[in-house]
Amino acid sequence: MEKASSKRGRQEENGGEGKDARQRTLAYAQPCPRMQLCREYMCSLNLEAAYFNPACDRCFCVTCASAARIPDILEQHNQHGHPYEVPKGWCGFGLDVPRRAHTLEVFDKWAVAFHGCPGTALASILDEGQLMTPGATLLDGTTLPNRLTRGGDDRIGLYTSPSIKYAELDIYTQPSEWQGHTVRIVLQCRQKMDIRPPQLRIERETIGWQGRFGKAAISQHFPNAEIERVTTAHNSIIPYRVLVSMDIQTREEEEEAKKNVRNVQAAALNARQATTAFEASEEKIKIAQANLAALVQAEKEHKAALAKVQKEKKTAQNEANAAVAGKRHVATAQSAAQDGLVRALCTFVTDQNILRTLQPSIQALIFNQVTQLNFHGWRIDWKTRAGLEGVAALAAAVASSRSLTTANLRGCGMSAKGLAVLATQGVAKSSSLSLLDLSCNKDMLKGEEGRVACTALAQALASCSSLRKLNLRECNMSTEVFIVLATQGVAKSPLLSCLDLSCNEDMLKCGVGQAASTALAKALAVCSSLQKLHLDGAWRGRRGGVGGS
Ligand SMILES: [Zn+2]
Repeated sequence: MEKASSKRGRQEENGGEGKDARQRTLAYAQPCPRMQLCREYMCSLNLEAAYFNPACDRCFCVTCASAARIPDILEQHNQHGHPYEVPKGWCGFGLDVPRRAHTLEVFDKWAVAFHGCPGTALASILDEGQLMTPGATLLDGTTLPNRLTRGGDDRIGLYTSPSIKYAELDIYTQPSEWQGHTVRIVLQCRQKMDIRPPQLRIERETIGWQGRFGKAAISQHFPNAEIERVTTAHNSIIPYRVLVSMDIQTREEEEEAKKNVRNVQAAALNARQATTAFEASEEKIKIAQANLAALVQAEKEHKAALAKVQKEKKTAQNEANAAVAGKRHVATAQSAAQDGLVRALCTFVTDQNILRTLQPSIQALIFNQVTQLNFHGWRIDWKTRAGLEGVAALAAAVASSRSLTTANLRGCGMSAKGLAVLATQGVAKSSSLSLLDLSCNKDMLKGEEGRVACTALAQALASCSSLRKLNLRECNMSTEVFIVLATQGVAKSPLLSCLDLSCNEDMLKCGVGQAASTALAKALAVCSSLQKLHLDGAWRGRRGGVGGS
């Protein structure tokens, strides 16, 4: 019946050259539990026994395939050049092949091909005796519907694969449930491979695998790009075995499981990241709360400090206001006092003409508004009682002033009594007067009155704390008067630096000049502040003079 070469082809699947028909018969006498289960399923389909050849049944279940050491791939070196993937995990039920299969030596010259089909289509295929293309009229008069091709009429053909992993996919096998098992059917066929395209084409997977699982290989032995065969030559495929699987895991299910694992891992990672982020945010919240508490405390302290500062500021402001008020009060009082003094002094002067002349100066002195006082242009007779009243008022104003620095009485006709009053009441008490010019008052130092006046002037010179310059030029100063000035004034003056006594012709006249010189020398020796002394023309009939201290 079978030719030797055909036998060899089938022996390969059964484990190698050493197996013969007798051993196989023994194997089937005691089939493995998996084979037994699959046979029960086949019986349940009520198929015509005449289509089958039990001598060609093969078990490729994990146990049997392992025991027989069947390789994963076979017919790698056959003359047709197309290896196939051994259907490990499946049980095979041999079909009674048509005579032409032997005549055409399909077990040597045609390649193995797998064709997945629904279990419900098996009876029809067996009745037809071959695979039918969609659109073909079946024996019962119906037309085979187009179940798989989505590409239109040009895609109509018979689909097979050298990979059981591809043929077993759900889209082809449409698995059914039987006694709690998931059952799939694949037909193992021989296929003529030397048919030219487009009648036979080797193509990439057409089941949308790449879109779902990317580059994952469907089979370990055939690339996804060459895993499908499509042919329009329906007589070029001869099924020779029905393969049955129970509860296998397809590549699709494996990839879905991997996806699920990846999803679970990603979810776990997300959960971990979320936990970390949550913990981090909790930590941040803690820090933020601490910061907030610190801020609240700081604000409280700031408010307290602000309140304290405001209180202190208010107190200081009150004090300042009080001080300003006090100062204003003092100023007012002082002003009133000054006004009073001016009024009193003016009342003291009985002559209205003298008063009109002196009043502006008295007022300016008392209110510290002038630095210089000029008696020069005044027409006042200082020898009269009214004149003395005026001098007294002026002297009081000079003593009161803190602004007056220069008093110019040059040639003002000052009397001896007037000078005495001015010196005693004014110059002696002044705290600011620096220069006093009394020159050209020729009657001022005359006689006994003049000596008294000079004594007063000398005492004023000694007691005044500010006077630095005294001018007595052309005053007709006598030797006696000069001695009084030198011994009682110059010698005791704390500040006097410049004294002008020039042009007093009788001052150092012969006879008493010796005593005057001695008095002057003593005065100079004592007064350490005097730097300039003018004595030009201070004597009659002598030339030259003494300059410097
Ligand atoms: Zn087995």
